[in-house]
Amino acid sequence: MKDTGESKDQQLTVALRIRPLSDAELEESATIVAHRVDQQMVVLMDPLEDPDDVLRANRSREKTYMFDVAFDYSASQEEVYRATTKGLIEGLISGYNATVFAYGPTGCGKTYTMLGTDKEPGIYVRTLNDLFRAIEETSDDMLYSVSMSYLEIYNEMIRDLLNPASGFLDLREDSKGVIQVAGITEVSTINAQEIMELLVKGNRQRTQEPTAANQTSSRSHALLQVSVKQQSRSPHLQQEVRFARLFMIDLAGSERAAQTQNRGQRLKEGAHINRSLLALGNCINALSDKNGHKYVNYRDSKLTRLLKDSLGGNSRTVMIAHISPASTAFEESRNTLTYADRAKSIRTRVKKNLLNVTYHIAQYTSIITELRGEIQRL
Ligand code: ADP
Ligand code: MG
Repeated sequence: MKDTGESKDQQLTVALRIRPLSDAELEESATIVAHRVDQQMVVLMDPLEDPDDVLRANRSREKTYMFDVAFDYSASQEEVYRATTKGLIEGLISGYNATVFAYGPTGCGKTYTMLGTDKEPGIYVRTLNDLFRAIEETSDDMLYSVSMSYLEIYNEMIRDLLNPASGFLDLREDSKGVIQVAGITEVSTINAQEIMELLVKGNRQRTQEPTAANQTSSRSHALLQVSVKQQSRSPHLQQEVRFARLFMIDLAGSERAAQTQNRGQRLKEGAHINRSLLALGNCINALSDKNGHKYVNYRDSKLTRLLKDSLGGNSRTVMIAHISPASTAFEESRNTLTYADRAKSIRTRVKKNLLNVTYHIAQYTSIITELRGEIQRL
């Protein structure tokens, strides 16, 4: 496949994935309003449900967004993994922290991207596989060990998904000032099949609450933590042990509490989830400030406290935002695109001139798509 948007010196990569239209969306005769135009560009069309709404009709019906890399229904799990996450492994082995997270409304493909299915495994398994392989191939003078843990943050409480019986866990700062989850299960090197089984089992332990938006709506953040420990094989250097951490995160649905008609307890959960997502967004914005003048407030949520060392310093972050292509999901898609766009806005300011040119191309492309549709209907 082509090398899409992979760049080594970039601290923050923002990717966008549009999942295929679902059977449910087809049944409610939804049309496709989100299109991938090229490797980096996405166009969202306002479905304009009410043709008499003059105010809306007068506004431009489509908006173009640029990302480091864009995927649609045709992208394989392997392609998404290669263009977003594979490049982090090298850094991890050299001692740099990294974070990959899936963002987006419930039902838009976050778990599919991160966990995937037995036949189409996602980023978790592919990353661990390549990491084990890369370590086998690295120099003989270092000794590496890899361990993983899988946890959930739900309602600002932390649970061990590999051992749910252990109750709620606390965050502690270790002697080096690194935030750790106290008492979490850590599983060391095992093969891909075993990892997948563990993760699928762990995923079943995630807190699921039905909401009006989706029967299996997930209100929790799931975090797969991969720790790489390295130590020199030479006896007099063995004292120095280095750690690097990779977090791969399946975030809770980003839909707003009001839109899922949440009430009572679930509204409270919604508030917590929004707080975590907001805190994460704020941290990323501050981190991507070129001048480094912005204060990064990690203490705002459990999620950002835990991610402190993975987000800051010499680390790389990948955000994969997810949307549905359906007309019925237009508002949510627009919110998600705006959020993802804001996450990279500071860094991409220099690209603006390019955007004006490509905007016109995008407009024509969508007009062509529309005309094609009309021809087909004739
Ligand atoms: P989320 O975790 O964001 O709530 P899911 O990953 O559970 O969403 O996806 C919702 C449904 O859509 C699942 O049945 C999933 O298998 C399917 N799906 C999501 N993305 C894709 C994709 N890129 N290709 C095929 N099916 C997908
Ligand atoms: Mg999910």
